[in-house]
Amino acid sequence: MIFLKTQEEIELLRESNRLVGKTLGEVSKYIRPGISTLELDRIAEDFIRTHGGEPGFLGYGGFPNTLCVSINDEVVHGIPSSCCLKEGDIVSVDCGVVKDGFYGDSAYTFAVGKVDEKVRKLLQVTRECLYRGIEQAVAGMRIGDVGYAIQSYAEENGFSVVRELVGHGVGRDLHEDPQVPNYGRRGQGCKLKQGMVIAIEPMINMGERYVFQMPDGWTIRTRDHLPAAHFEHTVAVGRGKADILSTFEFIEDNLLN
Ligand code: MG
Ligand code: MG
Repeated sequence: MIFLKTQEEIELLRESNRLVGKTLGEVSKYIRPGISTLELDRIAEDFIRTHGGEPGFLGYGGFPNTLCVSINDEVVHGIPSSCCLKEGDIVSVDCGVVKDGFYGDSAYTFAVGKVDEKVRKLLQVTRECLYRGIEQAVAGMRIGDVGYAIQSYAEENGFSVVRELVGHGVGRDLHEDPQVPNYGRRGQGCKLKQGMVIAIEPMINMGERYVFQMPDGWTIRTRDHLPAAHFEHTVAVGRGKADILSTFEFIEDNLLN
């Protein structure tokens, strides 16, 4: 069942998602070779709690931490650990917050120091896939239009799209209907309506699309162990234009400085 949100609820979702954006911005200041992913997790948890929110992932389905931190061939759902980032890694940081009863959900993949040219292209294309998907999040379009925009751009660039994990509705629950695949056919799937709030989150692999789950029950990795990237925004379906509720401004201001 899809819950349509009122404008008042969308403003609460904007607040939660803005806190996610600020948290990712704070985390981005510390991303460098030698920091452990558990340290990043503690920074995020403290930041969220001191800004009036609660970590949205901690305890969700039994997830043990605040952030999902996924390095190189880890696609999503990596569990923070004492393992340290290294020069040349890429790291996806996915953050959820709950505030005033509504969730925020957004993710960004960072380069750690200098990365290979082809890896840099994977990051750029995946980020671009996200915005191409968002352009379709307009009332009257369909879920398949979002997936098609993402898939076609990823594949044109020689990359592949993970099928097993998808975007989702966001609201009082972290994962609501509808599912939002990163692949699809134009004009297919449920029709997008004003008031729908969805997380669009392309997971794009440099090599083949196949993934597997680690014995920890969470971490998803590419089968060929080539790197994967993941970018996510929560957006409200608008008339004529999507309303992006999460933000990368705090991350990207910081990366430029
Ligand atoms: Mg997420
Ligand atoms: Mg999500």
